[in-house]
Amino acid sequence: MGHRNGFTPPALGVLIVLTGSATDMSDFKLNPFIAFVGGFPTAIIPRFLLRKYLYPKVPLNDDESAKFAPYGLRKIEAGLVREFGEQNVIVVHPYDLKRFVGPKTKVIGISSMEPAGIGFVSRTYTSLLGFGGEPVATAEFRDLIRNPIIRKWGAKIVLGGSGAWQILRAKLQKEYEIDCVILGEGEKTALEVFRKALQGEELPRVVETERPNLEEICPIVNPSIFGTVEITRGCGRGCKFCSPMMRRRYSFPLEHILKEIRLNADNGTRMIILASEDIFLYRCNEKFLPNREEIVKLIKSVFSIPGVDFIQPAHMSLAPIVFDPKIVEEIGPILLEKSFWKTKGTRHSSVEVGIETGSIPLMKKYMSGKMLPYKPEEWHNIVIKAIEIMNNNYIWPLATLIVGLPEETEKDTKATIELVDKLKNKKLFYVPLLFTSEEDCVLKEARHMDLKHLTLFQWELLAKCWRHNIELFAIDLVKWPAKFVAMFSYVLYYRWKHGTKSLRPLFTLSGIKADSQDP
Ligand code: SF4
Repeated sequence: MGHRNGFTPPALGVLIVLTGSATDMSDFKLNPFIAFVGGFPTAIIPRFLLRKYLYPKVPLNDDESAKFAPYGLRKIEAGLVREFGEQNVIVVHPYDLKRFVGPKTKVIGISSMEPAGIGFVSRTYTSLLGFGGEPVATAEFRDLIRNPIIRKWGAKIVLGGSGAWQILRAKLQKEYEIDCVILGEGEKTALEVFRKALQGEELPRVVETERPNLEEICPIVNPSIFGTVEITRGCGRGCKFCSPMMRRRYSFPLEHILKEIRLNADNGTRMIILASEDIFLYRCNEKFLPNREEIVKLIKSVFSIPGVDFIQPAHMSLAPIVFDPKIVEEIGPILLEKSFWKTKGTRHSSVEVGIETGSIPLMKKYMSGKMLPYKPEEWHNIVIKAIEIMNNNYIWPLATLIVGLPEETEKDTKATIELVDKLKNKKLFYVPLLFTSEEDCVLKEARHMDLKHLTLFQWELLAKCWRHNIELFAIDLVKWPAKFVAMFSYVLYYRWKHGTKSLRPLFTLSGIKADSQDP
């Protein structure tokens, strides 16, 4: 197992065909952070160029099935293979559907992260960069779902994946003729949906899945994009804007993790992403206290697997770093040695962290578990100390900030600006995101933040973050005249697109003194 070479698909099609949109089925040339580009608007660069240079097709096996696929799709594939046999299940790139869908095909399972363009990243960067157009990932999803081949033989269309909720929120299920939308973890309930479809039974329009037990989650049987391997699932810290908090928390057994990593490494993924909501949840205790011994053992085990060139942990929480800095001191050099990243000549590793806000009242209100075992009042010091420890150990994190949390006041925004100021000389890259109420979080009824409603201070925060990013990463890449022209057009564009309110902070961003009144 582990590859499909030698398998010939029957001329009448495969019983179960799994796929995803072209952005989901690309390895973005091995750069997981460029995968963010899926949330960017289509109108900036023509799609045929993006397809060629930014999100090219994953490599194929001899039978033209996809050699790599998103991890979630691989998990469903593994369950289906166990139940219905390898010859009845295939994962393919959307451009190759024709070869595998036929009169024998009964179900087409589609996984999507961004089918309607209303996730955190898409909403922020489509509106911020503007220029019209919808997110690339959404355009690609529409191309897939409207491809006539998927309906030609009457197969049932089942949609799952982390973005499935968007189809319901955007009321697109009927228009897209999706028979069943699956929300939540797939291992248990999704298999029942496939079983029903194979027996020709009517499918429920929407299914909220039951949580699987650890033993129901089987290891993947074919390699995943970016060599993604789950080390934990769920979180439990209870942030109200986040969905994984709803899920049960597991740490997968080390052998299960290493088996999936070996499968990926043997198939040439080169990179291993250790997927979790927070690496420090791995074998932590009930009070979220990190387990240094187990984490270090995990990282060292991954390091020793032949074929693993890059190790990329997905997320880290900041509080455990302060609680036990020795963990980062021990794993920092290993992550550096297996790092993909180099900035302005300096090699470093990177990981996503959530700062979210500098406001203590908002921390208390929406994410009071995020800083455990510390108190919300200590948040600024925790953030500063944790980033300092990371930087000292060659980690330059990618930090998310949420702009426009419900009932955010001027005072709250100023507190975040103050925190960003305190981090001035630290090495981190900010990803400010407009607050988005996702479907399965506590704040699902709250209003999305959009650019029209941003205050002057919130614009200032966005500008500050991007100025920091430009200074940290790009200043030596762009010649001064080019920089000036780029900034000038940027400012003019903002003025046209978003009104005068956005101008003052953006003038500051461009280095132009903004002492005149907005017209
Ligand atoms: S700590 Fe992160 S994953 Fe956990 S609930 Fe909060 S935002 Fe979600």
